[in-house]
Amino acid sequence: MSTTHEAGWAHAPGALRGPAWLREPADPDALVPLLWSGTARKVDGVLEVGGVLLTDLVAEHGSPAYVLDESDFRARARAFRDAFADYDVYYAGKAFLCTAVARWVAQEGLCLDVCSAGELLVAERAGFDMARIGYHGSNKSAAELARAVELGVGRVIVDSFAEIDRLAELAAGAAAPVRVLVRVTAGVEAHTHEYIATAHEDQKFGFSITAGDALEAVRRVLAADGLELLGLHSHIGSQIFDSSGFEVAARRVLALHARISEELGVTMPEMDLGGGFGIAYTTQDDPSDPAQLAVEMTKIVEHECRALGIEQPRLSVEPGRAIVGPAMCTVYTVGTVKEVALDGGARRTYVSVDGGMSDNIRTALYDADYSCTLAGRLSGAPPMLSRVVGKHCEAGDIVVKDEFLPSDVHAGDLVAVPGTGAYCRSMASNYNHALRPPVIAVRDGETRVLLRRETEHDLLATDVGEE
Ligand SMILES: *Cc1c(COP(=O)(O)O)cnc(C)c1O
Repeated sequence: MSTTHEAGWAHAPGALRGPAWLREPADPDALVPLLWSGTARKVDGVLEVGGVLLTDLVAEHGSPAYVLDESDFRARARAFRDAFADYDVYYAGKAFLCTAVARWVAQEGLCLDVCSAGELLVAERAGFDMARIGYHGSNKSAAELARAVELGVGRVIVDSFAEIDRLAELAAGAAAPVRVLVRVTAGVEAHTHEYIATAHEDQKFGFSITAGDALEAVRRVLAADGLELLGLHSHIGSQIFDSSGFEVAARRVLALHARISEELGVTMPEMDLGGGFGIAYTTQDDPSDPAQLAVEMTKIVEHECRALGIEQPRLSVEPGRAIVGPAMCTVYTVGTVKEVALDGGARRTYVSVDGGMSDNIRTALYDADYSCTLAGRLSGAPPMLSRVVGKHCEAGDIVVKDEFLPSDVHAGDLVAVPGTGAYCRSMASNYNHALRPPVIAVRDGETRVLLRRETEHDLLATDVGEE
């Protein structure tokens, strides 16, 4: 039994305090709309997404399951396309990609970023127009590059001198020139977690502007017969909430762009400002909407180009998380509820669910915060500070560090975590030989399995050691 008090959990002796930003909800059954996809709502306490009750979805498909709100995904893709109407918008497939999603991306008028042969394979299977694909990666093999050239991908974002050499060799024999962007590091550390801020200098991505490597990379691309230089590329990090980081980066990259035009006499037609647009995982997050970011970023670039006296290149951006993140939630079933005594007499309630770090590594990897809600019934019990953990053999196997759940949460309850569309299924593992959950699209009361649940057969299929 949980330690509850007539006047609420916080009044019990030795009560545990959550982080400062976490507010005790007046009604722990209610949804915080900002965190959920557009069609999510509660019907008598049962979470409904895309017109489908999650109790029905779990009864049919089991748990855990990722639930993808198709109309929400499409609406966010359209919002980016409309907000950045003069840009090319590349959906960053590494956030989440499957054949159906690649098709939705195409149907909504976006281009697609891939950063591996596997992601390219999915795009190919979806029939994605290869001319609208950008190919990223800091260590593309000769074989991967050959495949990209053969398929005619629209642009390759080069990230090392070795890659430029490899690509130049392949391009010499290609039917058409290979279009290239040079990834540069602008020395900007976005205001976000250290492990996901990729533009400070001591990391593996890009050519340094300050060290002169970026200029040298541009020279080498220009010197290669089969390569066509489109422009510079900068990606400053992830989960960025305002345009100030982009502003500094854009200024530095545009300065290099202008210098190339002046010193080398080459006017590059394009520039890519990367992705990293943040979303709300909890009530502490306050992301800008795409329209506002587009206006601010455009203003910055226009201003800089005027100041430098250069023509404005065609811009592109690469949102991943901001499109698919809020469109998906994960539904789990509670297995055990356990109170643990902490130093000082407080007790923490651990709610264990049937998934964990194998389907959402972000809490363990990035110390990320998530929220959750009881998804299968109305409770009415007072809120209780809880920690939602998985079933893996790892103390760091935490899904939601701190959240108020109704104090009568028990085995068999459904718990849903919003904002799991990006970097959850795409980073999922088979740790402890877990079967990776399905991705189920919901729309207008219909469900459609996009990725099926893995089976025991899948699990054993690669184990060929002994027959
Ligand atoms: C990861 C990545 C993105 C997408 O980042 P989000 O945070 O999902 O928007 C875009 N561009 C590049 C180069 C990336 O590595």
